[in-house]
Amino acid sequence: MNVGNVGSGGTGVCYGHVGPTPYNTTLITGADTVNAEGLPIANLTAIGICSCGHISMVTTNSTDVIAEGTGVHRVGDSGQSSGTGAYTLISGTTTVNAD
Ligand SMILES: [Zn+2]
Repeated sequence: MNVGNVGSGGTGVCYGHVGPTPYNTTLITGADTVNAEGLPIANLTAIGICSCGHISMVTTNSTDVIAEGTGVHRVGDSGQSSGTGAYTLISGTTTVNAD
């Protein structure tokens, strides 16, 4: 699958509000020394900003392709809102793939 980098996005539902709240998240951090399409590649520690006001963190990733010690985050992988509630990465690079 295509790997995520800074600016890639996910979508999910956050439960840290009065009622389940759909959100989009945009990744803002990645592996600073490993770029994909000119931007840091997303790995296990990558953080995103959610449209609901929470932040997100990557929770699933490749086990074979590593950047700065942790697996890279791919389209279809998941993360978690700090308010609880998973997202699925839906956009990433178009030319960089990892298992
Ligand atoms: Zn939230």
